[in-house]
Amino acid sequence: MKLISIVIPCFNEAGNISLYYLAMEKMYHKLQSQRDYLNHEYIFVDDGSSDETLDEIEKLQEKDPSKVHYISFSRNFGKEAAFLAGLQASKGDYVAVMDVDLQDPPEMMPMMVSGIMDEGYDIVGCRRIDRSGEPIIRSFFAKLFYKFINLISKTKMVDGVRDYRLMTRQVVNAILQMKEYNRFSKGIFSWVGFKTKYLPYKNIERKSGKSHFNFWKLLNYSLDGIVDFSDVPLSIASFVGIGSCILAILGIIFVIIRKLIFGDPVSGWASLVTIILFIGGIQLFCLGIVGKYIGRIYLEVKHRPNYVIKKKK
Ligand code: UDP
Ligand code: MG
Repeated sequence: MKLISIVIPCFNEAGNISLYYLAMEKMYHKLQSQRDYLNHEYIFVDDGSSDETLDEIEKLQEKDPSKVHYISFSRNFGKEAAFLAGLQASKGDYVAVMDVDLQDPPEMMPMMVSGIMDEGYDIVGCRRIDRSGEPIIRSFFAKLFYKFINLISKTKMVDGVRDYRLMTRQVVNAILQMKEYNRFSKGIFSWVGFKTKYLPYKNIERKSGKSHFNFWKLLNYSLDGIVDFSDVPLSIASFVGIGSCILAILGIIFVIIRKLIFGDPVSGWASLVTIILFIGGIQLFCLGIVGKYIGRIYLEVKHRPNYVIKKKK
């Protein structure tokens, strides 16, 4: 027998839990009629929900105690922490991660299983081929982010790839070996390597509730991703510094020559102020970049746990 563990982060998703479970059970029933050597378990991670999410999960756990397990956090630690907790608790030969809002279609699972078991891939993920139903500005910045990160980071990230994926135990162990505190899973999944296949599918709107990621959260998340997976911004800061030094030297030479030819009339204070402001701006900008990295190091060296568990079954 082979076991598939399914890790499901849930934050205020009371309306989706039982719908999700029913859809998954239906799909597995079919899958197991073709592959009778497959077993599955659910690992719901309640990320400090304030609604009835945990009650819903507990109800399922009582109904189906051999398959349904859960971990409940003491507060909201974020989706990345929930992933990590789920992967650490998983026992399966294969592990899937997916959202509970049914935006990650269960019907894709048989194809993912086949990708790993029949075609020999280590990871099979899903890639949205469109962004329908998403605000235009969000799509625009998402595309820009992927262009930028692929330009400056050695870890390549594919546009539209969701976290929804099935992985072998070997891949999960590699991911768990990455001990960093700041976990940007899009980068981590790609950093570990392995033979990966992406299945395309059309975007689906979530079943109930709203997305937890608004524009500002996503913007911050992508900035964190850049800092976590590239040091190019630091080089940009140095190059901007070198560039402004060269400009300043050219300026000095210009002023000296002008003095020698035309004497020294007192004028140009306005341009002087603009230049001082400009240089000050560049300095603050570069300091900000350096600060962002120092902030990440600070969080890293404190060695705080990624999450605190309140209840587990
Ligand atoms: N989620 C979580 N913790 C959070 C935010 C979200 O565990 O702090 C879960 C959420 O319950 C869902 C998944 O992460 O199962 C994806 O969240 P959402 O659907 O809001 O994101 P989107 O699909 O809009 O990117
Ligand atoms: Mg969603």
